[in-house]
Amino acid sequence: MATPLKQQFPLPAQTLIRRGKCHDCGGPVQWLTSKSGAVYYNCYNSSAEGDPCQAHHRVGGRGSRDLRRAYLVASGEIQPVKIGKPADAQKSPVDGRNENQAPAPKKEAQTPPAAKNGGEYAEYGI
Ligand SMILES: [Zn+2]
Repeated sequence: MATPLKQQFPLPAQTLIRRGKCHDCGGPVQWLTSKSGAVYYNCYNSSAEGDPCQAHHRVGGRGSRDLRRAYLVASGEIQPVKIGKPADAQKSPVDGRNENQAPAPKKEAQTPPAAKNGGEYAEYGI
């Protein structure tokens, strides 16, 4: 069974993944990890009039996993993994060839040419 997304590249809760801008008000926010591993931010900025933004954004399972992995790669704790072809696919296809061949096409059956003088009913005079 595959490892659930939440358990891939685990980080402690409240880890600062990155700093960014709030999607709603544009103010600076901190992207943090939750206890379950999800990446989120809460916006505590307020407008010039003092109205609080109170935006809350939560990244989904796959996006959170990718952000945690990118954080670990950027911090040097893990190495990025190159995804290559399987070992079998790197072999030349000629090496895997066997002696089997497609059957030769059948020759057209030789049909006797129709009699030029009369047909199959010639004996009846038709
Ligand atoms: Zn905001």
